[in-house]
Amino acid sequence: MDNCLFCKIARAEIPARKVYEDDAVVAFHDINPVRPLHLLVIPKKHIASLASIDDADTPVLGRMLAIADRLARENGSPEGFRVIINTGRIGMQEVQHLHAHLIGGPEPVGPMLNRN
Ligand code: 5GP
Ligand code: ZN
Repeated sequence: MDNCLFCKIARAEIPARKVYEDDAVVAFHDINPVRPLHLLVIPKKHIASLASIDDADTPVLGRMLAIADRLARENGSPEGFRVIINTGRIGMQEVQHLHAHLIGGPEPVGPMLNRN
């Protein structure tokens, strides 16, 4: 996708603080972190969201989760973390390239959501 922000980061056309890269995924620091550790884990392939995957995408989805613990440990969150994948309008997804937020740090991240 020519004009997709995260495709450009994956292709290194836009700078990002990358912490991990392999043949299928890239992980980098969120530009506006909500906790001391806030990484984004993305597929290199353009996938718009969890609402637009097909069977062929299953391995890359697995990879995104499989590396999460290692990424957290290596980046200052050794005692756990939270993964969030905002999807669509209801999930309030802002960037239309699938990404998993990996959030953590030295202290608990707080409640999952504020109750209404
Ligand atoms: P969403 O709301 O789509 O789940 O999350 C998008 C995330 O992308 C936000 O947390 C936002 O801070 C992050 N973000 C937006 N633009 C950039 C950018 O250019 N670089 C990086 N590293 N993160 C970005
Ligand atoms: Zn993209």
